[in-house]
Amino acid sequence: MSDLALFGGSPIRANPFPSWPNQSKAIRESVIETLENATWGIGSKTIDEFNLRFAEYHDAKYCISVHSGTSALWVSLKAAGIKAGDEVIIPAYTFIATATAVLMANAVPVFADIDLKTGNMDPKDIESKISDRTKVIVPVHVAGSPVDLNAINTLAEKHKLLVIEDAAQAHGASYNGKKVGAIGLGGIFSFQTSKNMSSGEGGTIISNDEDFADACFSYHNCGRVRNGEWYEHHRLGSNLRMSALNAAMLIPQLDTLEDDMDLRDKNRESLDNFINGLNGLTPMEMSPGATRSANHIYMCRYKETEFNGIPRETFFKAMQAEGVYTYKGYNPLYREPLFITNEEEYPWLKNRNYESLNLSQTEIFAEKEAVWLKQNHLLGDEEDIQDIKDAFEKVTSAMKSDPKQFLEFTP
Ligand SMILES: *Cc1c(COP(=O)(O)O)cnc(C)c1O
Repeated sequence: MSDLALFGGSPIRANPFPSWPNQSKAIRESVIETLENATWGIGSKTIDEFNLRFAEYHDAKYCISVHSGTSALWVSLKAAGIKAGDEVIIPAYTFIATATAVLMANAVPVFADIDLKTGNMDPKDIESKISDRTKVIVPVHVAGSPVDLNAINTLAEKHKLLVIEDAAQAHGASYNGKKVGAIGLGGIFSFQTSKNMSSGEGGTIISNDEDFADACFSYHNCGRVRNGEWYEHHRLGSNLRMSALNAAMLIPQLDTLEDDMDLRDKNRESLDNFINGLNGLTPMEMSPGATRSANHIYMCRYKETEFNGIPRETFFKAMQAEGVYTYKGYNPLYREPLFITNEEEYPWLKNRNYESLNLSQTEIFAEKEAVWLKQNHLLGDEEDIQDIKDAFEKVTSAMKSDPKQFLEFTP
């Protein structure tokens, strides 16, 4: 009889992993201070201070904070001059918001394939997706791992396109030694609960381009302009502003982010080294030019053939039973029902035929190979990381030595 938890044995791990988000005294004090000074919204010094510090930390001149990463993307696209019917090239492997922000700007998402080794958009697959309607490329630093921005910026220059980085998962990550986010025209971050900096909800835009930043200001603030009148509205903007309480929660996290990142670096390296020695699982690689990942989520690749044809889904079930939650992550975005059923509601998507798309590397990664751990796993201590390794070891060695029980398993 097997001692695997999936088949009735006892699990490697019974206790939860470190809780997220981290509550700290500094966050509590910062929130109380802002509560008491009673400037909770527009005009709050707390928001200005956060914008200043976030921009500085990310090697950018300008920062405009909003209430979500999705809104930050919409604002950026509008500020980049996206008009109805324009095309925006995005990776097919990302969170849905990268695509929905494009739709919300009445524009057309055009999906590019990924590089299986990094999980990031493949610069080599972008050029063939460029048409005379293409205006913007939105590369995503998937799992916090910087995409090859040099290759993408070079391509963008050649075709006179703009680059907006989706750095929603990449707080503090760097490319060629420079923090990501404002390496293209601008970029966005999210502070939604699961992200590496969190205020429950929230987002921000950074840039070094003054005109772009001014346009972002306008779209996020009811179409107002800097130094304009209160009742003077130039654009179809909205109220997407960040609350001062969110900014208050985020300021102290700028002091602890580097320590969290050091821990994530160490744990990622430790897991990579371990997984390298396990035939059948492969660590992710960094894209050319990437100098530091934010290590938002630990990912690796599953090779079914090395495990006697046992499906990845069964491996997940076995790992979950051991108390280490692994899962598949994103679907290829063009397969989401949104893109299949909604041509009536979104007539500008007519004849796009998203359902007939089949980007080979995205398909392999999403449907066969991707293995995700949870965000908080990389914040674990040595014992936590050892438990994760032990679970990988226990499950993968059993899949190799005794595949029958797995092959007969039906979830
Ligand atoms: C989380 C996320 C977003 C959206 O951020 P929200 O704050 O949840 O709106 C956008 N893009 C990516 C890649 C994300 O992971």
